[in-house]
Amino acid sequence: MRSTMQDAPLLIRDIVRHGQWMYADKQVFTATPTGVVQASFATVAERAQRLAAALTALGVRRDDRVATLMWNNQAHMEAYLAVPSMGAILHTLNVRLFADQLAYIINHAEDRVIIVDASLVPLLARIKDRIPGVAHFIVNGPIDEAPFDVLDYQALVSENEPGDHWPDLEETDAAVMCYTSGTTGDPKGVVYSHRSIWLHSLASTSANSIALSDRDRCLLVVPMFHVAAWGAVYTAFMAGSELIMPQMFLQGEPLLEMMTQLRPTTALGVPTIWNDVLRAAGGRSDVDLSSLRMILAGGAAVPRFMIEAFRERHGVDVLQGWGMTETSPLVAVSMPPAGVSPEHEIDYRVKAGRVMAGVQIRITDEDGAVLAADGVATGEFELRGPWITASYFGVDAPELFRDGWLRTGDIGTLDPHGFMVITDRAKDMIKSGGEWISSMELEATVMGHDGVFEAAVIAVADDRWQERPLCVVVRTPDSTVSAEELRAFIGPSVAKWWVPEHWSFVEAIPKTSVGKFDKRALRRLLAEGQLEVETLG
Ligand code: AMP
Repeated sequence: MRSTMQDAPLLIRDIVRHGQWMYADKQVFTATPTGVVQASFATVAERAQRLAAALTALGVRRDDRVATLMWNNQAHMEAYLAVPSMGAILHTLNVRLFADQLAYIINHAEDRVIIVDASLVPLLARIKDRIPGVAHFIVNGPIDEAPFDVLDYQALVSENEPGDHWPDLEETDAAVMCYTSGTTGDPKGVVYSHRSIWLHSLASTSANSIALSDRDRCLLVVPMFHVAAWGAVYTAFMAGSELIMPQMFLQGEPLLEMMTQLRPTTALGVPTIWNDVLRAAGGRSDVDLSSLRMILAGGAAVPRFMIEAFRERHGVDVLQGWGMTETSPLVAVSMPPAGVSPEHEIDYRVKAGRVMAGVQIRITDEDGAVLAADGVATGEFELRGPWITASYFGVDAPELFRDGWLRTGDIGTLDPHGFMVITDRAKDMIKSGGEWISSMELEATVMGHDGVFEAAVIAVADDRWQERPLCVVVRTPDSTVSAEELRAFIGPSVAKWWVPEHWSFVEAIPKTSVGKFDKRALRRLLAEGQLEVETLG
């Protein structure tokens, strides 16, 4: 029997209409070199209609790919709203990619139009000759001299009339695409649908996840090219949460400035950013983060010391989120369950999170057998659900799926209440004497030392044990901490045979284009003999 419910598709245009009407006065703030500019949701939505009219006039049709090469700013948000609502596909390009990767992705996705921030035009100029399929370049912001033919974003938006440019679409139509930031092989495209974005946004308003609502003002540090800004632009428009867009000002000091001046209630970003904010706040007595009800840190493991430091020094709760480009991204959030006493909340916040309604999860062993969700059995996480990808755009990758489940490549345990603990990426684990060592756990432990700013652990080949851990450390500015001291420091916290004998002290750990430790780059530095390694007896 069919239900009596109406068959209404879940479309992004209806998120836009909702925010434009219900939350017309809510504001989007954008940091610029000369100060903060702001616009209301009503204005942003109206400008999105104008942008859609302009793109239509340029010949953009249903399913055409419109790419953005932009920082987090208001114009980027307008593209987020306009492009999928008009039936085209928004393709967010990562501004930190090397020119070769960028050209590959633009050609692979068959982008027809690129909207680019003025400051990023030089990056595009380097590959202009290698992307013949792109018919139009639209530049946001003033440029002295265009190195190729460009259109002006602001002129296009003001010259075109707003109106209803939002056609009827299928909810399963493609809406947004994003390539993985994966550090192995060619990047792979994931394509989100209107439906997947709707359901992911609804889940993000749930009180068991991050509960974005019209009481929030969200500092969006996660780049809008990283998994569609973790869905936050659509969730914000749906729920009436204001947004603060930091553009390229992503270091600790300017972020602290924005937090003090604009008083966000929530902030989203990867742990390396929050570590930098802690460092910047360290010596200052004028830092006031009391407006924040929570920081969502995700995309990489969140060390215990960071959660403790935000709570103890600034009174701010850190929530951890787990997800991937392939999963829209939010799958799990580490909200402590009801009834947990305040001193035990940390035991949940350090976990990757509890799986949200809508996503099914299981762990499997190397042969694919499903393991118990008992908090003990360790295996690979596999996922199914309406905002989990079922394939990649234009490439076959059957090894990444099993019987309709996405294989995540993340290893860990699942407890009976659905909390995930990640031990490692499968490819980052260290096999020593036939047993696994978790690089992530070692990193989190070493980073708990006051004299350590960052630490990343990779495997080095070992004749006797097959592999042993090498810990690469960045000291805090005045620290002189030594390998012996760190060895003694972590001794009580990890198994004896986990304690690394190889240490290296560096100025900075290489980061991926989305700000995570780049272990592939570290392994390359090691192979090329560019890491000075100290081996303790
Ligand atoms: P990306 O697709 O670039 O967002 O990368 C996804 C990967 O980031 C996951 O497969 C995990 O390895 C890692 N990741 C994301 N969130 C967490 C977390 N909370 N803890 C540990 N690793 C994480």
